[in-house]
Amino acid sequence: MDHPLDYEADAAAARSMRMSFTMHGIGASDGVAIGPAHLVSYATLEVAQYLVPAGELDNERKRFVVALASVRDELSQLRESIPAEAPAEFGAFIDVHQMILADSTLSQAPLELIGSQQCNAEWALKLQLDQLLEQFDRIDDAYLRERKGDILQVVERVMKALVGKPGYIPRALPGAARAILVAHDLSPADMIQFKQLPFAGFLTDLGGSTSHTAIVARSLNIPAIVALHRARDLIRENDQLIIDGTLGVVIVNPDPSVLEEYRLRREAIGIERAKLQRLARTPAETIDGSAIELLGNIEGPADVAEVRANGGMGVGLFRTEFLFMNRDELPDEDEQFEAYRAVAQAMDGLPVTIRTLDIGADKTLRGSQRASANPALGLRAIRLCLADPPLFHTQLRALLRASAYGTLNILVPMLSTKNELVQTLAAVARARASLVDDGTAFAPKVAIGGMVEIPATAIALDVFLKHLDFLSIGTNDLIQYTLAIDRTDDAVAHLYDPLHPAVIHLIADVAHRAQRARIPVAVCGEMAGDVDLTRLLIGLGLRQLSMHPAFLLEVKQRILKTRLADIATIARRIVNTRDPERVRRLVDKLNA
Ligand code: PEP
Ligand code: MG
Repeated sequence: MDHPLDYEADAAAARSMRMSFTMHGIGASDGVAIGPAHLVSYATLEVAQYLVPAGELDNERKRFVVALASVRDELSQLRESIPAEAPAEFGAFIDVHQMILADSTLSQAPLELIGSQQCNAEWALKLQLDQLLEQFDRIDDAYLRERKGDILQVVERVMKALVGKPGYIPRALPGAARAILVAHDLSPADMIQFKQLPFAGFLTDLGGSTSHTAIVARSLNIPAIVALHRARDLIRENDQLIIDGTLGVVIVNPDPSVLEEYRLRREAIGIERAKLQRLARTPAETIDGSAIELLGNIEGPADVAEVRANGGMGVGLFRTEFLFMNRDELPDEDEQFEAYRAVAQAMDGLPVTIRTLDIGADKTLRGSQRASANPALGLRAIRLCLADPPLFHTQLRALLRASAYGTLNILVPMLSTKNELVQTLAAVARARASLVDDGTAFAPKVAIGGMVEIPATAIALDVFLKHLDFLSIGTNDLIQYTLAIDRTDDAVAHLYDPLHPAVIHLIADVAHRAQRARIPVAVCGEMAGDVDLTRLLIGLGLRQLSMHPAFLLEVKQRILKTRLADIATIARRIVNTRDPERVRRLVDKLNA
């Protein structure tokens, strides 16, 4: 993978003349987008800049004042909580922060900027911060210069208070449908909010291609590139951009001839996608007649339409955590029930697999901090649910109630021990019993399945085979945990490898053992939607693939051109080799 370091100086010079330059990152969502850059602030927290209608400006100012007040309270509480025996500097440090907060450069100037720029409070604060930082950089006095860090910390607190209570969410930025969002980093929660906004593509400096941010980006069906390292620094607002999400290339201020070439490519991709649409109703079968069940991954009821439009034979993974993010109050049982029922009904009897809450790691609830040093190894998914019985009970009751309206399966993420499995099944039994007590209807048989996404689960599979009705291999996490690669960290993204012999060995072994035990097994990680891995997965024995709906037709097209008899021997060789080069050569041969 190319890194941008070698062209930074050129790019900086080119930028000042608005000349063309190219950047390379990791393609996170395929396709070509062409449009003006729209920068998302990188101050301390990522914030978007947007125009606030004149009628909303007072509310926006109010939002800023409320955020200031809450930070003032926060600092006072912090001041009071300092133990008497703590060093005096602790108190002095908070005094300085209180003074900075009260200073008119931070408490008044942004209010004026909201009006004069007609912008959101976060952006006004960011503009003011930029100006202050510039002034600080010019100060000779080293002590005063060091206060820059304090200012940043105070602004970060205010930003957090603002972001925690979003006000006006722009519905229609002028020209936004063509704009390409450029950010240093975006969280999955940010990304979900952008689902409501019509952007043409996005770029980030950080992130890996299977981070939840990238997964949500794919669900927006817009080209995206992550791990660009310096995009936010080098690209200016309104620079013209071409992004090629397939190759992971960004061309900034392209020459007219390049622009024309990419316009033609974008059209060709559009035509190709329209052609694929003809396959929507064709059964997914290999040439020699083996049926492969293709299912869709969704983040909410609104995504079901796309699964159906692309011929999905069910929902293989509903990531329910997105119902819980970007809000102050968690959804209660009735709200959850409505969402699950909506999906079950919209799928009209086709199977719907709903996963219980997988909060933790990069998916956080509002107000909760990343408390542990290694959140991906911390209190995540089923671990968190078992630690919070009322939260889990509410979700299980809502899921069981929704089961009366379709064919619903419950999928449990991150199971790794027998103890967790037993506790989970007991929690389901309790939820069932409580519904019986209430006289509330639910389906007599709801299949309970488990994600296989931790190597320990894949290796010690027997206990899960014995007690569960089905399995679903979460390759995103299985790879992360097998290879010890944080899937959100761009610094190690090049090591994230679905074709690592250890990963292939685990997937093949789980598929084989599940089949032997007659337990259905699917793949629902990003590998399932990668058309270059379709033949490999089928060759390893998988017959159920669940993916983002945008990939369903391309994967189906590949299946229709596949003969099981042709791939079986090569697949066996792939499983039996531990040589990574050979794996790659054999996968190329499978796809030839
Ligand atoms: C996975 O880990 O592969 C998976 C499907 O779950 P998620 O991406 O939501 O962690
Ligand atoms: Mg997972």
